[in-house]
Amino acid sequence: MTRHVQTLVVGGGISGLVCAYALRKAGVDAHVFEASGRAGGVIQSIARDGFLLELGPQSFSTTAPLRELFQDLGISDQVVQAPAHAPRHVLVDGALRPVPLSPPAFFTSSLIGASIKWRVLRDLFGKSVPPQTDESVAAFVRRKFSSQLLDRLVGPFVSGVYAGDPERLSVRSAFPSLHEAEISAGSVIRGMFRAAKTKTGPRERPTLTTFREGNDILVRALSNRLGPSLHLGASISGISVQKDGSFSAQFEASGASESIPAKSLILATPSNVTGQLLSQLDSSFEPLLAPIEYAPVAVVSLGYRRTDVGHSLGGFGFLVPRSAGLRILGTVWNSSLFPGRAPDRNSLLTSFVGGATDPSAAMLPTEGLVSLVHREISPILTITGEPVFASVTVWPRALPQYNLGHSDRLAAVAKLLRNHPGIWLAGNYLRGPAIGSCVEQALAVADEVREALEK
Ligand SMILES: Cc1cc2nc3c(=O)[nH]c(=O)nc-3n(C[C@H](O)[C@H](O)[C@H](O)COP(=O)(O)OP(=O)(O)OC[C@H]3O[C@@H](n4cnc5c(N)ncnc54)[C@H](O)[C@@H]3O)c2cc1C
Repeated sequence: MTRHVQTLVVGGGISGLVCAYALRKAGVDAHVFEASGRAGGVIQSIARDGFLLELGPQSFSTTAPLRELFQDLGISDQVVQAPAHAPRHVLVDGALRPVPLSPPAFFTSSLIGASIKWRVLRDLFGKSVPPQTDESVAAFVRRKFSSQLLDRLVGPFVSGVYAGDPERLSVRSAFPSLHEAEISAGSVIRGMFRAAKTKTGPRERPTLTTFREGNDILVRALSNRLGPSLHLGASISGISVQKDGSFSAQFEASGASESIPAKSLILATPSNVTGQLLSQLDSSFEPLLAPIEYAPVAVVSLGYRRTDVGHSLGGFGFLVPRSAGLRILGTVWNSSLFPGRAPDRNSLLTSFVGGATDPSAAMLPTEGLVSLVHREISPILTITGEPVFASVTVWPRALPQYNLGHSDRLAAVAKLLRNHPGIWLAGNYLRGPAIGSCVEQALAVADEVREALEK
């Protein structure tokens, strides 16, 4: 294939698929080149032995742009949402305790000591200024609240979102709304309230969502719309600039090397690949992009006979503070949240192992991961039988870490990119790893590309 394309999107994860879809909808001849034999990147659902499994993200929070996208793709009727008030739990002293999710629940919860409640009130009525330097999530929580809050709630939450290490994650990069709230209002809580009030559009509670047949439905719908403009098994190995400012991208497909000319490029690849590709234009990119850490995660789904599980499994699942001394980061009770995840009279429970605080655990052999998870969750959930089903997926580079210095790193990349008009970046290391954030960033990039092509 040597035809000219208007926009070449490298990488067919959710970020690249949405970029190309939005551009094609706007009349731009956009094509996705995806190295692997399937689209969707880390989003993968499979049905096996009556269980419906997610090998990557288990579900995602809905946002207005996501809902619009589902509508547009004609898949809104396949959306399933978790019960709105499904409690989340955290493991404290060997028992599961509900996480307080509202101000009254917070102030009456025995999970949180009186001193933390006092520090929260002090934030609400006092004034504080964040340090000029990049502050870690752990340092932020200790400065504003307490190390108990860090251990019991914030650390587990950080595991749930980033599989990250709060001592290294940057609060301004990983949780920008908290940092901005303190800067703008002198109080995290007042600032958050103020930001919520100024938000336009209807108030919405983020709800955990998936599709009746799994997250893959979104990938399939986007792939169907892209049709022949989605090229699978096409790995981009090099890019160069032509005399007229357009690009030529080299790719390997079916063992052969070819090149394709393109007016603009969107690199929707993980940061190390993006760094390698851009280094062919300017060697300063790679030292900025390649070192972004990605935490490894093993996703271990186990099926049990319902009668072998003593716990009621009412809710979302649970997260594990690092101080508990376990290697699982948390467990999602898939069959309690969504219909059709397990055969009748069975439960499906998915646990996560590894992350930035325990990377070697994700690399244990498959059998070792199954027995580790079974051993650790059995006493917590009063499980008396062996699993009847097991699936293990290891993502050596699962989630990008927005560690200290991340925002400076991205600012330096953005500055360098100004010397290379016609190239844009998309992906989960830029504006948040959640699927909703990737989609919003991809839509914004598509808008910018379309505007640039119209000039
Ligand atoms: C275990 C796990 C659990 C998660 N849980 C949640 C969750 O609960 N909720 C939530 O919202 N999000 C969750 N996420 C995060 C979310 O799923 C990801 O951040 C998002 O899907 C990333 O999409 P992406 O397109 O940016 O990157 P990716 O999915 O990584 O896609 C990048 C694509 O680029 C391709 N590629 C690489 N090199 C080349 C090349 N040279 N040429 C062509 N193509 C190339 C790759 O094959 C890949 O398909 C989770 C992620 C993981 C791994």
